Amino acid sequence: MGKPSLYGLTLEQLTAWLEERGHRKFWAGKAWEQLYRTRVRALGEMSEVRADCLATLEEHFTLTTMSEHTRQEAQDGTVKFLFRLQDGNLIETVLMRQKFGLSVCVTTQVGCNIGCSFCASGLLAKSRDLSSGEIVEQLMRVQHYLDDAGQGERVSHIVVMGIGEPFDNYTNVSDFIRVVKDHKGLAIGARRITVSTSGLAGKIREFADSDLGVNLAVSLHAPNNELRTRIMKINKAIPIEKLMESIDYYLAVTRRRMTMEYILLRDVNDGVEHALELAELMKPRRQLVNVNLIPYNPVDEHGQYQRSSPESITAFYDALKKQGISVSVRMEHGADIDAACGQLRSKQIKAAR
Ligand code: SF4
Repeated sequence: MGKPSLYGLTLEQLTAWLEERGHRKFWAGKAWEQLYRTRVRALGEMSEVRADCLATLEEHFTLTTMSEHTRQEAQDGTVKFLFRLQDGNLIETVLMRQKFGLSVCVTTQVGCNIGCSFCASGLLAKSRDLSSGEIVEQLMRVQHYLDDAGQGERVSHIVVMGIGEPFDNYTNVSDFIRVVKDHKGLAIGARRITVSTSGLAGKIREFADSDLGVNLAVSLHAPNNELRTRIMKINKAIPIEKLMESIDYYLAVTRRRMTMEYILLRDVNDGVEHALELAELMKPRRQLVNVNLIPYNPVDEHGQYQRSSPESITAFYDALKKQGISVSVRMEHGADIDAACGQLRSKQIKAAR
C-alpha cells in the first residue's frame, strides 16, 4: 500500500498532526479549506498552504488512492461508480438525484460478513475495512465529478448504505462523518446523513451515546425471529428482542426519529400477516419510527427471491398505515443500470474471473 490519503484525517487530527511537526494551526485550517472548499485534486495544488508545511504533508500523505474503473449513468440521473483501490479491490459508490437534493451512497468495507441472503454484496466475504480516507475519497470523487460538470451542484445528503456493515468499521465510519460534517469544510448537516446497520446492538448503543448526531436506519426485513434468521443470519447472534432493546435505548437517549428498513420479498415476508406482525412490533415505538418498504431488486445470484407484486406492496403498506404506523416506499434509482447494491461490483469480479 502507498501513502495514506489526507482525506482520512479530521480537522482536529490534521491540526494536531501538523502542530506536532512545528506547523501552526492556521496552516491546518488553510489545508482543510483547500481540500474541501477549493477542492484541489492533488496535494501539490494547495497553493495557499506554506511551502514547508505542504512539503511535510506531501512526504507523508497522498490525496488520491483509488482510480475510477467503471462509471454507469442511468436515465434518471443516477450514476454508479466502481473504484479500484490501491490493493486492487473494487468498491461501489452511487450518486442519486432525489427531489430534495443530491445523495451519495458510500461503501465502508471490501465485501461484508453479515451474509444477508438477498444481497449481492454479501456474497463476497469481507476482506478488509475501508480506511476513513477511502470513505471520504468516494464522496470527494463524486463531488469532483459534479464540479467538472460545471453546474455548481453539491452533494447534499449521504447514506452509509453501500457494501459493508458500517458499525463493523465503527471508528473509521465515525471519522468519515466528522470530516464531512465539519462546518469549515463540506458542511453536510448531520440531519442529512444516515447510517444504516444490519442491527449490531452494542454499536447502536455506542452510536446513541456518541456526539455524531446523524440519522440511524436499521435493516429489520422480518417481523419475527424465525423469518429474520432465515433472511439474515446475524439474527441468530442478535435476535429481534435484543435489537429492539438497543433501539429503545437509542430512541430514549436521542429522541430522534429513525428508519426501519424492510425489503419486500415475494411470498417470503410480504404478506398482510407479516405487516400486522410488524405493526405490533413497531407500535410501542411508533412516535419515532418510520418503516421504509424496499421493493426487492432481483439479482442473478439469488434466484430464490422475486420482487413483490405491486398489489402486495400496496396491501402491505395499507395494512401498516391502518395500524397507525408511519410508512413509506423507497423510490427506485437507476433501474436501467446494475441498480442493486453490489451488483455492478460482483458482475465485474465474475467477469475478471
Ligand atoms: S445487506 Fe448490507 S449488511 Fe447485509 S450482507 Fe449486504 S452489505 Fe452486508
